[in-house]
Amino acid sequence: MALANVQALHVGRCPPMRATTTEVTSTEAALPVEVPAEGAKPGKPGARWVEAALAAAEGQALPEVLLAGRAASRAALARFAESGVANRIGGEDSRPGATFESRSPVDGRLLAQVARGDAAEADRAAQAAKDAFPVWRDMPGAERKALLHRIADAIVARAEDIAAVECMDTGQCIRFMSKAALRGAKNFRFFADRAPAARDGQALPSPTLLNVTTRVPIGPVGVITPWNTPFMLSTWKIAPALAAGCTVVHKPAEFSPLTARMLVEIAEEAGLPPGVWNLVNGMGEDAGRALTEHPAIRAIGFVGDTKTGRAIMRQGAETLKRVHFELGGKNPCLVFADADLDRALDAAVFMIFSLNGERCTSSSRLLVEASIHDAFVARLTERVNALKVGHPLDPATEVGPLIHPVHVDKVAGYFDAARAEGASIAAGGARIEGEGCYVAPTLFTDVSADMRVAQEEIFGPVLTVIPFADEAEALQIANGTDYGLTAYVWTRDLTRAMRVTDRLEAGMIWVNSENVRHLPTPFGGVKASGSGRDGGDWSFDFYMETKHVGFATGEHATPRRGAGYARRAGPGGPPAHPPRPAEAGASQGGSACLTPSAPCAPTPRRKACCPTPPIRRPSTWCACRTSPCASRTSPAPAPST
Ligand code: NAD
Repeated sequence: MALANVQALHVGRCPPMRATTTEVTSTEAALPVEVPAEGAKPGKPGARWVEAALAAAEGQALPEVLLAGRAASRAALARFAESGVANRIGGEDSRPGATFESRSPVDGRLLAQVARGDAAEADRAAQAAKDAFPVWRDMPGAERKALLHRIADAIVARAEDIAAVECMDTGQCIRFMSKAALRGAKNFRFFADRAPAARDGQALPSPTLLNVTTRVPIGPVGVITPWNTPFMLSTWKIAPALAAGCTVVHKPAEFSPLTARMLVEIAEEAGLPPGVWNLVNGMGEDAGRALTEHPAIRAIGFVGDTKTGRAIMRQGAETLKRVHFELGGKNPCLVFADADLDRALDAAVFMIFSLNGERCTSSSRLLVEASIHDAFVARLTERVNALKVGHPLDPATEVGPLIHPVHVDKVAGYFDAARAEGASIAAGGARIEGEGCYVAPTLFTDVSADMRVAQEEIFGPVLTVIPFADEAEALQIANGTDYGLTAYVWTRDLTRAMRVTDRLEAGMIWVNSENVRHLPTPFGGVKASGSGRDGGDWSFDFYMETKHVGFATGEHATPRRGAGYARRAGPGGPPAHPPRPAEAGASQGGSACLTPSAPCAPTPRRKACCPTPPIRRPSTWCACRTSPCASRTSPAPAPST
């Protein structure tokens, strides 16, 4: 299928796949073959293709930000093409020998040879993070704040380079990526401002203690990120870890590793001490796995596929790793007949077709009330057919190429599945012939809730529409998948909105709004969409341990185990054995019940300290019974835990 609105900017073809590294694994086999570019030596990318790609976009009305930074952006890409991407461990570059290729989904050309870290590399990085931890942990929060703000400043200064590189590495459109880079800076500023108070806790006084809580950074942590919006997601995970006082080993996705390298460089240039932030590229099943199993790594912040989350939970079990998972989604958008349908339409299109549909929070299932279904779908179809597909650096582009040929195959597989299951394809439903990893924005209709296209995460520019008769059916369909990340509700009926949001199985819900992220709010999903929350203070809860310390405010009576037993044993001396449980229980009930026949003789001191009931604590319980032998059959109170 060739779409008229596909921009004629592609300069290569999304190629077939072949492994080119020294060792072959299943993931590696999925990496694309090198297509020798004009001017590039086989196996080593030259800078000329970058010139060609950018020159192809030269005539286009590129955004001001990109025009201004055009030379720098070109240099950023050319530098990766020339020198490749090294790991960064303890403030130094590390090139373990083996490499893998990063190719652009725009045209399949080689962007860089990337250091392929393995278990040994992950171990060195974890060790560097462990060594750097005490100094970073002990740095005053105000200093960490200043440093993180300097990182944010540097991100802003290089935003156009980052955006351009991200577009070429992921296929995401410049209209979104220019904002994503700036959003990364905002993430740093947000958590920087909270760094000085990150350790704050509560005072919880009790009658005899001043109890305080405090938080301490958990230690070195691993951050494992996916390929869809790598720069922004990395900042979202790493900024709070650093603000909390943790050191970091970052393992970026193998399909889009370039901006992770820019980010760690920016951080070090801003003054981050060596080893505080380490970067290990590589495959998930070796470098990623080793990180999750490493004993020095105390927690793993993971964003990615649900299957991978399950694997990481198993891998981390031996070291009791704390994990936070942001996983897949099949998020419903419920449109009731009374909604503002114009706004609902805008939001429905935006939430699935922005970021090429490679967005975990996308509203990929559109549930429309039957009475408005046909009219709404007719308008929707027009909008989907009018989406501008093209080169990601073209500011007019609304949908760019998918990340990788493997992912194109996955998404296109759902076109076949939809047809096989009897769904209709109202728009798209095909790969776009020509260069690049493009598929047409697609709309499935006549779908029932049990079809694969209604149940499985497609993670592409593909929307599935399902009608519903009433609120009960809407909820049943909405909750009828394994996932539960986000949900969107469109209605003007406030009480219905309150009812429905209460019953929707999702971690984040927006009413009459697309996903508008507010950084202090919690982020995360339920069911197969993840566990735990981050965002705002929830991020610190994950990256820090909460400690309780109790300070005695006086000289309260402490139970005198052993001392009372010896004294009460009398002239005959203590029995040859320590009190048995029954005896100990009895002695809890009184003063001298060491044996069943012992007399009950509470001492004046014990009487004097007797508080009024209810008596809960073993020490006071012991002191307050005046007739303990009578209560010998009563169970002794459980000790405090
Ligand atoms: P993925 O799970 O395949 O890979 C994510 C990361 O995990 C990569 O860095 C990969 O190398 C690593 N990895 C793979 N196997 C591993 C293992 N055994 N041990 C340790 N690390 C391993 O995901 P992806 O394909 O890169 O990203 C797409 C998925 O991410 C989608 O399912 C999407 O919904 C999800 N996602 C979720 C969110 C969210 O916030 N919930 C955000 C973005 C993406």
